[in-house]
Amino acid sequence: MSTNSINPKYVFITGGVVSSLGKGIIASSLGLLLKGRGYKVTIQKLDPYLNVDPGTMSPYQHGEVFVTEDGAETDLDLGHYERFTGSNLFKINNVTAGQIYLSVINKERKGEYLGGTVQMVPHVSNQIKTKIFEAAYTTESEIVIVEVGGTVGDIESLIFLESIRQIRKDVGWNNVAYLHVTLIPNLKATNELKTKPTQHSVEILRGRGINPDILVCRAEKPVSKQIREKLSLFSDVALDSVIECRDVKSIYEVPLNLEEQGLTKRLLTRLQLEERPLNIDSWKLVVEKIKNPTQKVKIAIVGKYTKLNDAYISVIESLRHASATQEAEIEVKWVLSEDIEEYNRKNLSLEEAFEDVKGILVPGGFGDRGVEGKIRAIQYARENKIPFFGLCLGMQCAVIEFARNVAGLSGANSTEFANDTPHPVIDFLPGQSDNTDKGGTMRLGSYPCELEDNTISLKAYKTKTINERHRHRYEFNNLFGNKLKEAGLIVAGRSPDGKLVEIIEMPKEKHPFFIATQFHPEYKSRPDKVHPLFLAFIKSCLKG
Ligand code: GLN
Repeated sequence: MSTNSINPKYVFITGGVVSSLGKGIIASSLGLLLKGRGYKVTIQKLDPYLNVDPGTMSPYQHGEVFVTEDGAETDLDLGHYERFTGSNLFKINNVTAGQIYLSVINKERKGEYLGGTVQMVPHVSNQIKTKIFEAAYTTESEIVIVEVGGTVGDIESLIFLESIRQIRKDVGWNNVAYLHVTLIPNLKATNELKTKPTQHSVEILRGRGINPDILVCRAEKPVSKQIREKLSLFSDVALDSVIECRDVKSIYEVPLNLEEQGLTKRLLTRLQLEERPLNIDSWKLVVEKIKNPTQKVKIAIVGKYTKLNDAYISVIESLRHASATQEAEIEVKWVLSEDIEEYNRKNLSLEEAFEDVKGILVPGGFGDRGVEGKIRAIQYARENKIPFFGLCLGMQCAVIEFARNVAGLSGANSTEFANDTPHPVIDFLPGQSDNTDKGGTMRLGSYPCELEDNTISLKAYKTKTINERHRHRYEFNNLFGNKLKEAGLIVAGRSPDGKLVEIIEMPKEKHPFFIATQFHPEYKSRPDKVHPLFLAFIKSCLKG
């Protein structure tokens, strides 16, 4: 399709009243409902913070960093977008204010503004609009859903609102719709839903020149017709475009609820697009399974950001997808890796921490805090034959544990944690980047991996070549390959040139399930296309 044969439509999603309203889930739901009608859709997130990407932020600040096929470190909402729409996203799908200002200032330094005074409008706003149009054209989408991060009224998001306002003028009224997600709080004292905060947030939006076409109202309880009429009157939004979005058990139900209220129909009419029948049968099936589990499966996640579930959101969702296929509900037991270190110091058995779990998962991470606790947890899983799944740092810790306790390489470590280790089984490999900057300098994005014959991994994937996403600096050190192999460790997957170890596992005879990957499989699991390794892990946990 050439760029001028499509005339993309834009749906801009803003948020009002409070943050964390689940705009990302609403954008994702809309993506699913439009794609399910055969439209080519992409979703873009505009983040108003000044970091160039979230890669340099602590997970406690920002939650998980989601990595795309092309190696962009992005907002966790992109994970939801991919999981709901089933389509891969790219660097262009996440734009931050940091990226925008950086490119404007770089252009200024190069003299590209030809002596002009560089201003928020039009220079910064134009740069933002260019990125939005680029998302439409590079992905050849018919509909581009653009979520503006933050809440209307924030200082940071002003220029983004100005840019999306201008786009309606640029591309025409029929090609742009504004959807405002808002909160209708329930006042405990009177048990009443209150519309005033929404009235005010719509007022702010209108003050920026944006009249919302659709209101999506988050509420704890049903939003009555009377309340919707009031919202409609004060916000100048048609009554049937005031849509309720009530709290539900599973985020995967949200699209079904929005569809029931005619959200997509309203939007398509507004954009002058044909309605088309909806086909999301496989999605509905997953929702049914998630809503009606027949058993529970409790998995320990041993990490260091355990106080914020968002830090491991793709891991949790992947476990949920896999469990749903077995009609099981996932129950996560958060185990702080530093607590395990405390058990160790006091010479306590780890039984207390893990006696009630069916499997142990050690996810990715950075820095040495809590690493020894993870290594100890892996040792416990290995010795007690508890299904174990390690991801990225989880694999590196598994290699360290195996080296120290099985291969007899006492003091083995990663040079990330101990530069002077006598056995650097995980190391910064020659030929990898020697850039010491922190932003965007890791092995990032999708790389191929060849699986070895007669491995549990090959049995799970059922294909010899796989592609998985990475985000790490350190690698398995091949100098120790033979020694670890002799001790019984299996390298189940390598880069096609054989140089990089991507998967390790233990033989079935020795352990029911012990697999760890240098890549992050969690970025690719989808509710209706479960990741094979997560599935194999959960199946093994349920057997135990
Ligand atoms: N810190 C490790 C590395 O950089 C692991 C990274 C991760 O788990 N994502 O290699």
